[in-house]
Formats: sequence, structure tokens, C-alpha cells
Amino acid sequence: MFELTGKTAIITGGSRGIGKEIALKYADQGANIAFVHYGDGENAEVTEQELLAKGVKVKSYECNVADFKASAELVEEIIKEFGEVHILVNNAGITRDKLMVSMDESEFDSVIAVNLKGVFNMTKAIYRHFMKKKRGRIINMSSIVGLTGNAGQTNYSSTKAGLIGLTKSVAKELGSRNVTVNAIAPGFIKTEMTDAMTDKAKEAVLSAIPMKRMGQVEDIANLAVFLASDEASYITGEVIRVDGGVAM
Ligand code: NAP
Repeated sequence: MFELTGKTAIITGGSRGIGKEIALKYADQGANIAFVHYGDGENAEVTEQELLAKGVKVKSYECNVADFKASAELVEEIIKEFGEVHILVNNAGITRDKLMVSMDESEFDSVIAVNLKGVFNMTKAIYRHFMKKKRGRIINMSSIVGLTGNAGQTNYSSTKAGLIGLTKSVAKELGSRNVTVNAIAPGFIKTEMTDAMTDKAKEAVLSAIPMKRMGQVEDIANLAVFLASDEASYITGEVIRVDGGVAM
């Protein structure tokens, strides 16, 4: 079940957090991994070694997904190196949280550039490859705040809502080519991103979650494995919450 042997996955933001766990679980299922990070070489080195220990082909790439030209060159380089790419996981993301009253223009623009434009850049870069091969999987990391909104995250929640529109549009464009495009909407998952929240904010969040716990990176990676597998071949344009029920 959920066999990925012989497949190659590109995972952006694969050096730590949710992206790293997706890379590890894909490798457990036999996939070769090209993961992308930006700036933090130490984490990338550790992740690369952990993945190599699983006996699959692995390469890490440093690239800013917000850069259109660099993203196109990156995907070209990965295709050259791995031969064929089967799965793209657009997971890289950043936050610059502030109430709108004190958010400046650059804090809005930088989050849009990575979280939304970055997904356009990477998807555009792989689009023709998937069309030609007549197969492919694209998994976009949205968030429940793209569905519900969140005070202090006008920039971030806009990108995560935008990703839902992007996901459904590309799913409609590429459906006839046997390419599925889906979005995962995580709730509050324990990573460095949520470690940055204040204790007060964490308490408020926990009390609102019906399952009364934060999610683990494995909760997201398990779904990412399923969506990349043959077993999920008729699921497209879907947005799946993994959130302990908080946004139902
Ligand atoms: P994280 O721990 O902060 O990791 C972010 C990853 O993205 C890192 O690998 C980072 O690389 C990479 N990255 C950041 N900017 C980049 C850029 N410009 N180009 C390429 N890579 C870049 O984040 P996370 O918590 O695992 O979240 C992963 C995804 O899930 C994000 O899209 C996030 O919005 C979404 N999400 C998370 C939660 C949550 O509760 N954690 C909830 C909902 C949605 P470096 O280390 O090299 O900077």
C-alpha cells in the first residue's frame, strides 16, 4: 500500500518541520527525494544524511522559491539529475505575523512572495514536464487559516486561501493529463513555526481544538504519502484539513 518506489519527489521546505517528515515518509515508501531549502544549510545536511540512510537517491538544493528564474532553473536541474519527477510538494512557507494596523508593506509582500508566488513558480516550472509525461502529483501546503482567517495573519492567511484557488484551478487545467492537484490544510502542528507562538496563544489554540492536542508532523506526512500514491489517483482539487477538528 502507498508504494512510491521508483518515483521522484521534489519537496520544498524539506529541510525541517513538516517538509522534512514528508521527505522521510516518502523515502520509507521508496521514493527518491530532491528537497529544497533556503539558507539553513545545517538542517539540510542533517536531513540529507537521514534520508540517505534509507537507501534512496537524495539531493538537497538551496533555492529561494520566491525567485521565478531560480525556481525554473532548479526544476530543470532536478529533472536532469533524476530523469523524471513524479511528485511536487509545495510546502515551503514563512510567517510574519502582526495585526494589520502595524503590518508594513514588506511584511505583506515577503509572505506573498514565498507562500503564494513561490507555489506558482515551482508549479509553472514542473507543469510542462507533467503534461508531457501525462502523470504527476502536486500537493500544496495550505492551512486552516486559509479557510477561517486569523487575526494577526492577514498576509499569511491570504496566501493560504490563495493556494486553495490555485490548487483547484491547476487541478482543472491538468486533470485530463492525469495530474492530480490537492491541498492539505494543517491545523496547529508542532514545528519551529508554532514554537514561536506565545504560551498564551498556544493555550488559547489548545482549548479550541476538539481533540485537545496539537498535531504532529507525522499527521500531515501520512496524508501527503496517501495523496502521492496510486491509491489516491482519482482525488483532485481537494482541500483536506488535518486539524483535530478545530476548523470544522
Ligand atoms: P518550518 O518548520 O518553519 O520550515 C519551513 C521550511 O521552508 C524550511 O525548510 C525552510 O528552509 C523552507 N523555506 C522557507 N523559506 C523558503 C524559501 N524562500 N525558499 C525555499 N524554502 C524556504 O515550517 P513548518 O511548520 O514545517 O511548515 C511547513 C508548511 O506548512 C508551511 O507552508 C506552513 O505555512 C504550513 N503550515 C504549518 C502549520 C504549523 O502549524 N506548523 C500549520 C498550517 C500550515 P530553511 O530552513 O533553509 O529556511
